[in-house]
Amino acid sequence: MRFVLHELLAHEQIEALPGNEDFTPDVLNAVLDEAGRFCSTVLQPLNRSGDEQGCRLENGVVRTPDGFKQAYEDFIAAGWTGLAADSEHGGQGLPATMDALFTEMLCSSNLSFAMYPGLSHGAYKLIRRHGNEEQKKTWLPPLVEGRWSGTMCLTEPQCGTDLGLIRANATPQTDGSYVINGAKCFISAGEHDLTENIVHLVLARTPDAPAGTRGLSVFLVPKFQVKADGSIGARNGVTCGSIEHKMGINASATCTLNFDDAKGFLIGELHQGMRAMFTMMNGARLAVAVHGLGIAEAAYQGAVAYAKERRQGRALVTSQSPEESADLILVHPDVRRMLLSMRSQIEGARALSSWVAARYVHSQRNTDARARQDADDFVSLLTPVIKAYCTDMGSEAANLGVQIYGGHGYIREHGMEQFVRDARICQIYEGSNGVQAMDLVGRKLPAHAGRYLRQFFQPVAAFIESRAEDPALAEFVGPLSKAFVRLQKASAWVAANGLRDANEAGAAASDYLRLFALVAMAYLWARMAEIALAHQSSDDGGFYRAKLNTARYFMQRVLPQSSALFACIVAGGESIMGFDDDDF
Ligand SMILES: Cc1cc2nc3c(=O)[nH]c(=O)nc-3n(C[C@H](O)[C@H](O)[C@H](O)COP(=O)(O)OP(=O)(O)OC[C@H]3O[C@@H](n4cnc5c(N)ncnc54)[C@H](O)[C@@H]3O)c2cc1C
Repeated sequence: MRFVLHELLAHEQIEALPGNEDFTPDVLNAVLDEAGRFCSTVLQPLNRSGDEQGCRLENGVVRTPDGFKQAYEDFIAAGWTGLAADSEHGGQGLPATMDALFTEMLCSSNLSFAMYPGLSHGAYKLIRRHGNEEQKKTWLPPLVEGRWSGTMCLTEPQCGTDLGLIRANATPQTDGSYVINGAKCFISAGEHDLTENIVHLVLARTPDAPAGTRGLSVFLVPKFQVKADGSIGARNGVTCGSIEHKMGINASATCTLNFDDAKGFLIGELHQGMRAMFTMMNGARLAVAVHGLGIAEAAYQGAVAYAKERRQGRALVTSQSPEESADLILVHPDVRRMLLSMRSQIEGARALSSWVAARYVHSQRNTDARARQDADDFVSLLTPVIKAYCTDMGSEAANLGVQIYGGHGYIREHGMEQFVRDARICQIYEGSNGVQAMDLVGRKLPAHAGRYLRQFFQPVAAFIESRAEDPALAEFVGPLSKAFVRLQKASAWVAANGLRDANEAGAAASDYLRLFALVAMAYLWARMAEIALAHQSSDDGGFYRAKLNTARYFMQRVLPQSSALFACIVAGGESIMGFDDDDF
């Protein structure tokens, strides 16, 4: 994490942006150290018990598993809920890069726990951006402090991906408030015992609203009303009808919420709910990418530890420990392949998600309007890419973790199977990964005649060109350059054929998104290799050697997937769309 922050992303010069002056490398490293300590000593020990116990619904109140309430109190007492919030609302104002790294630690140690403060931060962002001054004054400080938590209420039984189907309704009142009615399902942290109040952000439609998503507005509906002095008032008409019994993240309460004449307040403008909600959803998509990464890292750490202690069979060529009854499984090429597949993609994904977070900081804090716009374009383009890629990778890595443990991974004892179950949801919520791919090809690629794409293509092209003659980098820049050409050709193919027939773009979308992610990581791996090469002589403990060799693995054994993906994309959609519906 320190390498990514201080070496790989040094050129982003985040510390030079207004508001970041105090965040020297020493300060940031101290925060990372303390975050690591908190996550490993307080949250990780509750991961398995939380999974086994799950949440319980008792008389309308959701009880989180034993230990969660105390851990949450410790969490807010240490100020973690305010890490990336503005100081004017009581936060510490750390850059989003730190938030991403901290979120990764949270998710490595306890994804279920991470859901509670994660949604609060999303609610914070939405109200900060779209709320009026009075709303900000009332709702933001307790959210930042962690005394209150937030939710995102979109999904209804008949409405998942297609938010135009939302039925929840909001009736205007003479005092300017709204009465909210309807049922929401699958609401994370919809009800729980960790905070004194819950702030629901609800997509609903007013009586005269246009049909579809254009008629949606966002309403803030608190669990308890708030008195003028900020203290907790009467209970509002929102109750938890049931909680879901799920495959994973069992300690995260996934609730059905009933809104029965609940009092709510419009946030932002009427019928502009999707715009406002996208503030929360985009932030959440970046966070969910890191959910996948966090699980992958935890699975990798478990798998490495096991591969260094489990003895089975002999090395194919020379035994590593002839005095023992068998060699460590670490000697077997296939086990090493699995470990390096995990490691190269985890470190690549961490570099990529941190790069996106760094550009996000520029989109918010750069003093130059053009630079802010460029950074915003970049973040818009890469958001679906990292959401889908990192969460697919999280599941792949969790599965490889089980595989490395063999049967001991499949049984519960070592916690590896929990990673598989917990990682799976990340590919589904916050817009399923197929929908992310559609967002990339359908919205982000064509936006402003390809303007977003330039924000990614330009730095990659410039890097390749400036390093083309460097023989030391040839083994990295060569494969990057070839894969980049494939991505450029695939982009042109998707644009041209998608325009002619939208099904062609849809059929290519998921392969195109993965190709995009691989090329983005190849670029970052080439940069990381360049840094590692420069530090070879002062390599303390082999850190840079390992970095270099992981870069080699990525270039030789992961990036070649780009050829197959390219072939799938340009094969076209006929084999998919031409298949007769009746034959399914
Ligand atoms: C544990 C958990 C927590 C959740 N937390 C929240 C929360 O806090 N707040 C909230 O509002 N919701 C939440 N959700 C809901 C979640 O966001 C939805 O489940 C998700 O958006 C997918 O919707 P759906 O399940 O209705 O699937 P559907 O929309 O029915 O999709 C089914 C399948 O069809 C595909 N599909 C659908 N439309 C398209 C399309 N246009 N193009 C291509 N493929 C398509 C999807 O990719 C998917 O594979 C949560 C869900 C779970 C399980």
